[in-house]
Amino acid sequence: MSTLSYSTVETYIHNINPYGIIPFLTSVIILIIALNLLVRGYRSLLIRTISFFCMSLFIWKFTAALLLIFPISNLTLFLKYLFFVGWLFIPYLFINFVYIFCSKRTTHTFPFFVGSVVLLSIIFFSDVAFIHNNHFGHYPKLKFPFNVLVDTFYFVTCGLGLILLFLEYLKASESIRRNQAYLLFLGTSAGFLVSIAEIIYLTAPVQSIVVQTGKLTPYIVNYLIHSLMVVCFIFYLLVLKYGIRRQDSWSGQLQSIPFILVVFTIFCVFYSYLIGLACFSLFPISSVGLIVAIIFISYAVFKYRFMNISEIVMKFLVNVLLTTMFLGFYILVITAVTPQKIDIIPSIIFVILLIVIFNPLYLRTQRFVKRLLFHQKYNYQQTIKDVSQQVVTVMEHRKLIEIIRETIIKTMRVNTFVLFIYNDQSEVYTPISLYGVTEPEKVQFTVSDALITAVGSKSNRVFKEEIRERLADNIGEPSLELFDELQAILIIPMFLKGFLRGMLWLGDKETGDVYTTTDIDLIQILCNQTIIALDNARLYELAITDDLTRLYISRFMHQKLNEEIMSTMRYERPVSLLMLDLDHFKTVNDTYGHQAGDRVLKKTAAIIQEQVRITDLVARYGGEEMAVILPETDNDMAVQVAERIREKIGAQRFVADLEQTVSIGVATLEGETVMASISPDTPFLSHVVKTSLVNKFKEIIIGQADAALYKAKEKGRNRCENASNIPLILLKPIVAELMNKKLPDDE
Ligand code: GH3
Ligand code: MG
Ligand code: MG
Repeated sequence: MSTLSYSTVETYIHNINPYGIIPFLTSVIILIIALNLLVRGYRSLLIRTISFFCMSLFIWKFTAALLLIFPISNLTLFLKYLFFVGWLFIPYLFINFVYIFCSKRTTHTFPFFVGSVVLLSIIFFSDVAFIHNNHFGHYPKLKFPFNVLVDTFYFVTCGLGLILLFLEYLKASESIRRNQAYLLFLGTSAGFLVSIAEIIYLTAPVQSIVVQTGKLTPYIVNYLIHSLMVVCFIFYLLVLKYGIRRQDSWSGQLQSIPFILVVFTIFCVFYSYLIGLACFSLFPISSVGLIVAIIFISYAVFKYRFMNISEIVMKFLVNVLLTTMFLGFYILVITAVTPQKIDIIPSIIFVILLIVIFNPLYLRTQRFVKRLLFHQKYNYQQTIKDVSQQVVTVMEHRKLIEIIRETIIKTMRVNTFVLFIYNDQSEVYTPISLYGVTEPEKVQFTVSDALITAVGSKSNRVFKEEIRERLADNIGEPSLELFDELQAILIIPMFLKGFLRGMLWLGDKETGDVYTTTDIDLIQILCNQTIIALDNARLYELAITDDLTRLYISRFMHQKLNEEIMSTMRYERPVSLLMLDLDHFKTVNDTYGHQAGDRVLKKTAAIIQEQVRITDLVARYGGEEMAVILPETDNDMAVQVAERIREKIGAQRFVADLEQTVSIGVATLEGETVMASISPDTPFLSHVVKTSLVNKFKEIIIGQADAALYKAKEKGRNRCENASNIPLILLKPIVAELMNKKLPDDE
């Protein structure tokens, strides 16, 4: 043992790594982390991580070097101060990231902001001479106890961030989230190790108090202190890990933020004090690691799209704006009050003032920045407003789907879009609308499919990575291939009353941008509205159709007939109406029974529907009476249709060779007659008058068709009777009566 002196160890270490043992150990640990990532299959993440890492180190060194190259001038001094200000806010930015990732309220990071500002004011009344020395462009040397204060702030912020990430890793129930937190934790740890290495590098050569006792070399003291800190931290994490498993009140205490803060503050005061003893710490504790950590988190944000990056950017901008304002004000005041020597009193007043006016000012600035930079959000709000207005009025399935499709493709500029909707009859999910991809053969999912289970278990959105992970164990390749075939990277589930009624598969954006939380929120709102509207349309369809015949009910027919007469008035188009009644239907019931009668009714309804155009409307008017509205159809055409229906029904053989005939009455309302009935000097018809008029016209056309039907019955049944075009003479008195009554009211 006697041959192995400290200096031998020291020489040995320096031969390995010029920076000393801790940077060496750091490199080893980072290597282990890198291998860990590689083994877990995060190859691309590893490569990018390493590049980020090198880049941040480069930026850091480069900036510092730049400040050294130029001779001291007001400009370089100003730049140096700016550098410190930015540096001071890095811990605040970092803790904000972590808070958002861990879904904690970011308003709670306010103390960290205040901490940064306090540190900033400390710089101003500290010995700033250090900045003037060209000492690596570094920090002002702070007097005791300020160095301890500043270092403690840094360590506490970083430590808290790391612990929160670690807790997230331990607690996350979803594997993807756990991996995520794990990666972030590893990445930030690597960052902090770099920080420590940097500190060693900077502090080791400085003569320390301990060295003056002559017992130990400064290197060894430094190694011991920092190793102690790392060991303590790892110990703390282990305690947390085993504490969580125990699930008692004691472990709950361990995880509470106030507790972590208290323990950490005590520990870090001690640690910072030791650093101070060894070398009089350089301020602020080198935080290049924090930059690395932030880059890690930003990367994860972009890769997994779980954080609202614009929110962070905005917060940061607001804070920078406010800080600049405060700082300018502050410098003005202190130079006015104490031009020679910067005093502590104005600093304290400044901090108090800041805390009092911070929040109202913050909110106001935030609103300003939002309006200035995030008008996209306002566009989104507009889209939501437009779509909500549309979907409540549209009751048609096809149209609703068109609306959501167009809106999403236009606002998101997606490459691909596939909408799956659950079909109640066939009980499968099938794609009903596609964009950017061709429909693959036989794509459908049942409720019990692994993919549906995976999508259904998520409440908001599922990314490709998550699906991959879940499906890998479950059903293997086919579903995953489909995922690639449809070029989907994101699935938005559409729930209704807790049941997955549909899902939207989206591909990458045209622009190559990622989906932000705001995007996903918007898509989700649109999807929710659509699925509700689709369901309403389904319920409405049920409400307006008759159970037995699937024809429209008479109330709906009346409504439609009103609309058609309205168009007749506006566009001078004819509308025809057929009234049908089955002949001697009572005997069918009496002879074959009611069930057979029902079947006959059902079949006749189907025959009528086959004989008319898609724009015509067939309704069950009463028991075995049916009505057909034929828009834009003149009387000759209507008679042809009626004849065709009569023949087809007559030719059909029903139960036990039963022959069923039908009698039909036809009536037509012509546009010209309608126009002629309204006197040309009537300049304007109010809505109320128009509605009453339409109702009267409707009564007349139904009455005429009915009268014709009655005539057909009288003439021996199984025939069509034509009431022909309704004559002007029938309409004129109605119009005249209505005008006389309503016109004075309208004026
Ligand atoms: P016609 O019209 O030729 O004068 O003779 P009809 O026997 O058809 O006379 P009417 O129109 O008055 O009779 C209607 C009959 O239709 C009465 C009822 O038994 C039958 N009916 C009405 N609705 C239904 C139904 O939903 N199912 C069955 N099976 N029968 C119905
Ligand atoms: Mg009848
Ligand atoms: Mg009848």
